[in-house]
Amino acid sequence: MTRIYFDNAATTPVDPQVVESMVPFLQTYFGNPSSIYSYGRETRVAIENARKSVAQLLGAKPGEIIFTSCGTESDNMALWSAIEDLGCRHIITSPIEHHAVLHTVQALAKQRQLAVEFLRVLPDGHIDLTDLERALESATERCLVSLMHANNEIGNLLDIEAVGALCEKYNAIFHSDTVQTVGHYPLALSETTIHFATGAAHKFHGPKGIGMLYIDHKVSVSPFIHGGGQERNMRAGTENVSGIVGFAKALELATSNLPQDQAHIQSLKDYLAAQLQTQIPGVQFNGDWNGASLYTLLNVSFPRTPQSEMLLMGLDMQGICASAGSACSSGANQGSHVINALPNGNKGVPIRFSFSKFNTKEEVDHLLVKLKQLL
Ligand code: PLP
Repeated sequence: MTRIYFDNAATTPVDPQVVESMVPFLQTYFGNPSSIYSYGRETRVAIENARKSVAQLLGAKPGEIIFTSCGTESDNMALWSAIEDLGCRHIITSPIEHHAVLHTVQALAKQRQLAVEFLRVLPDGHIDLTDLERALESATERCLVSLMHANNEIGNLLDIEAVGALCEKYNAIFHSDTVQTVGHYPLALSETTIHFATGAAHKFHGPKGIGMLYIDHKVSVSPFIHGGGQERNMRAGTENVSGIVGFAKALELATSNLPQDQAHIQSLKDYLAAQLQTQIPGVQFNGDWNGASLYTLLNVSFPRTPQSEMLLMGLDMQGICASAGSACSSGANQGSHVINALPNGNKGVPIRFSFSKFNTKEEVDHLLVKLKQLL
């Protein structure tokens, strides 16, 4: 059975050109980048070239980019650094953040006895920025604001300029989880007032196990993982050389084809939304789906029936892969914390369809046929 993959917000297939760029660094150029002889020098150069390329593509300086093992590690480092090194004693975040942020915030709050404030979510899934200003204004200690650029379940995009301006006004540290936007939107990080931003190559056709953290050069933090002096003394551990090379290559490809890929993927999202509205009575879309939203995903609530409760499983049996929410919580069967946080958001059965450049309109048509059969 041919399978159809509509869960690209969870992870994406690696682009063959990315694999090609990585293979020499698994075989020919295998040296430890910390070694001083030629094998080491070759891999050191590859890492620094990758860093320069990533920095340039994200509108940052090479010294502001650290390679990590994943988006989760980057989020952890950003949040711990803001508390441990930058004097933040009050955390302002939202109930719809990824667990990489929410669970880290919980751990920090417990271990460091910090106050955490969760901002109000509006019915369309956006964060109430008047609530953010109220929280910043009333805080008595330095704040860390952690708000994601794009929500991985409903797709809502944050106005990072507006949030950054508020953080600047109240001297707060601003962390934004940009895992769903790096490789999907042009970013110019140095031009923003973001202090920490995060990325993961596997979300844009790069390999798993390689992430990055942007740290604004205006802030100075200590390592999160201690050991050797790798990553300019900021993140110890022998570097994932092929992963770093793959990260840079994936970002280069994503950026150079962005307008074409974006137009294609947006057309799939729009087509699915329009067809669902005409073909399946009672469907609703979660979040600001046709406004400030990722072009890569559509979160659909199907009217709750015995058939729709089994829909994900039924689609899987037909070879169609979609998800109920974040991959990290699938299987937990507690419903989505994001949908549950939306006012009136949890009435139907939510399913997230997320697309990549490899999906086609024919696949969407096939999905529609199967959805009608299963419902
Ligand atoms: N943040 C967001 C918004 C995500 O979608 C993900 C991935 O699911 C992560 C963080 C975690 O990234 P990783 O899987 O690379 O640890």
